[in-house]
Amino acid sequence: MTHGPLVVLHDHLDGGVRPSTVLDLCHAVGVATPADDAAALGAWMTITPGMELVDAFSRFDLVNAGLQTADALRRVALEGVEDLAADGVVHAEFRFAPLLHTAAGMTPAEVIAAVSAGLDEAHRTTGLDARIIAVMMRDQPLDISMQVVDAAIAAGGRVVGVDVAGIEPGFPAELHRPAVERAAEAGLGVTIHAGEMDGPHQIASALTCEPSRIGHGWRIIDDCTVEDDRIVALGDTAAALRASDAHLEVCLTSNDCLGQPVAEHPLRMLADAGFRVGLNPDDRTITTTTSRREFELARTLLGMTDIELAAMSERAAVAAFLPDTDRAALVERVRSGWDIAVPRLVHLAEREVWESCRTSGVYLPTEFGRDGFIHLSGLHQVLTPANRFYAGRRDLVALVVDAHLISNALVWEPGTGIQEYFPHLYGALGADAVLAEIPFPSETDGSFLLPPELVKVVRR
Ligand SMILES: [Zn+2]
Repeated sequence: MTHGPLVVLHDHLDGGVRPSTVLDLCHAVGVATPADDAAALGAWMTITPGMELVDAFSRFDLVNAGLQTADALRRVALEGVEDLAADGVVHAEFRFAPLLHTAAGMTPAEVIAAVSAGLDEAHRTTGLDARIIAVMMRDQPLDISMQVVDAAIAAGGRVVGVDVAGIEPGFPAELHRPAVERAAEAGLGVTIHAGEMDGPHQIASALTCEPSRIGHGWRIIDDCTVEDDRIVALGDTAAALRASDAHLEVCLTSNDCLGQPVAEHPLRMLADAGFRVGLNPDDRTITTTTSRREFELARTLLGMTDIELAAMSERAAVAAFLPDTDRAALVERVRSGWDIAVPRLVHLAEREVWESCRTSGVYLPTEFGRDGFIHLSGLHQVLTPANRFYAGRRDLVALVVDAHLISNALVWEPGTGIQEYFPHLYGALGADAVLAEIPFPSETDGSFLLPPELVKVVRR
């Protein structure tokens, strides 16, 4: 598979340890392993669909038994970056719960320092400058979460965000809201596991913490009305999630292990309905996957195109917990690395203006006089302006534009790293560059969803 640079936002440090390293680390501290060669241990560590959660978590328990020293953490961090870099990853954020590594006396600060040292070393040898997300465990009391956040804030450096993870049922994220708020006030990014093991009400709870990213989140599909493999209406939580612009860190193989077959995963439906989605490995060793493999699965089992895969990479770059200048550079690197010439773009036009212009063969929207350009979108960018600027309007038409016919005059908006890139056309749009006109009606809930005809024409 050819693909461009990959961005990993959701990767658990303890879920990606090489089996050979697990053997070394466990045996070094006298912990028995279920197998004594790496291949057999790797097979045992792999969780499979239908496995009880308690058995799945026992794999992490074994790994973490060997991850109680600074040397062990440093090694695992270094090797994790090496493996991701070899897979084509250019930006990675590792997450771990500092308090799971304090059994032998390390403090949370020492745990974070040890992982940071490994990432520093990996940066020198691989060039991949990985960051850290500190994890609070949902079933722990709030004061423990506060300790995690305080350690994360004090550490600074590579620590760029916090997460709330662990068993969902019975432990809504809002129990940890004061800790999350403290992290956000200190400038750390916020992501929260929600809608992975439990339903949309967990996502609703997570949204009260105002995360900019959600781990998994795919069960929001249970708050959407689906007809013919397409989302046709959003429930209250789904509408709130989409409006929040939170990025969903989807992990196909991991979700498969929890009972959601990849071929039936709602990833593509969610993308088409305007949710911001990206792909991640979650636990590379424990679920036997890689970042690249997740993209291959999306292509082979969900039929996603190169442009859709590139868009997911770009969206992940946009959602990275990095300072704006670094984020803009990452977005630029990802976009240029995928080298996808977008063949078809979309412009939302007021039907009356389009129809009056069309007869003259040249389209110039009224906004051209003010903005000096015509705003074009990739398929998954259409819904953001539609919902932001045209809510309630029923007189729009989506023009499908052949970018090849106008490419000389096409300029991609300079990246701020905050928004996705939108291509601008500095000049009139010839009516002959328009391949199709698709009505763009409001849905009954007042928010826009992509008309299926538009999806069909643009993807063709
Ligand atoms: Zn996870």
